[in-house]
Amino acid sequence: CGIVGAVSAKDSTAFLLEGLSTLEYRGYDSAGLALLSGEHSSGLQRARSKGRVAELAALVKEKALSGNVGIAHTRWATHGVPAERNAHPHISGGLAVVHNGIIENYEALRIQLQGLGYEFTSDTDTETIAHLIQACFKGQIGEPAENLFSAVQCAVAHLKGAFALAVISDEEPGCLVVAREGSPLMLGIGDNGHYAASDASALISTTKRLMYLENGDVARLSREAVVVVDGIGQPVERKVITSSLSA
Ligand code: GLU
Repeated sequence: CGIVGAVSAKDSTAFLLEGLSTLEYRGYDSAGLALLSGEHSSGLQRARSKGRVAELAALVKEKALSGNVGIAHTRWATHGVPAERNAHPHISGGLAVVHNGIIENYEALRIQLQGLGYEFTSDTDTETIAHLIQACFKGQIGEPAENLFSAVQCAVAHLKGAFALAVISDEEPGCLVVAREGSPLMLGIGDNGHYAASDASALISTTKRLMYLENGDVARLSREAVVVVDGIGQPVERKVITSSLSA
């Protein structure tokens, strides 16, 4: 139901948790986040909980999680009951995904991905996206992807339905890739990094410079740059506006 993401020069954990808190009013049944931290050998760290963002924040503190790159989510369940195993982010190897919306062809994709050896640990439509991006990344579906950005472009071409996505991978720890089709998603252009959210309210305390993505767009955010391609893979410029909302 809500997405927040960050690639920052600083630790992103507080930004992500505060962003989720500003999205709480939209209603949700569980929350979670994933962070990339150079301090952990596995790279990717995840915390999820059924219930309030405050409980997730306590879990993050207890596990002492931190990282400059991260994604976070509040879930309004459509596929699979509210439970920790169904909470986002969903993981495939060292890759993590958060998703708003519904993937209509997830059953066919699930069967295809199980055939490739991917094991599912949730009842969600979203977990198919994580394995699909991984399969595209490894060249098991489509042409071998050069990087996470092209793997996400390959994956979204196979998805039917409405989605806003944010993806991180320990194979490319300095970037965040996002995509949208039918669900809202915008970027925040900050002094210390780049951000993404499903609602401007999660961004404006950090930056008022916003870039609204259009349907079909896929964007790669690093600390230094934002690159956007449209639904046919052509590089596009999206206007940056200064929000008049107050934090
Ligand atoms: N369809 C996904 C799920 O049930 C995402 C729901 C949402 O937008 O929060 O997990």
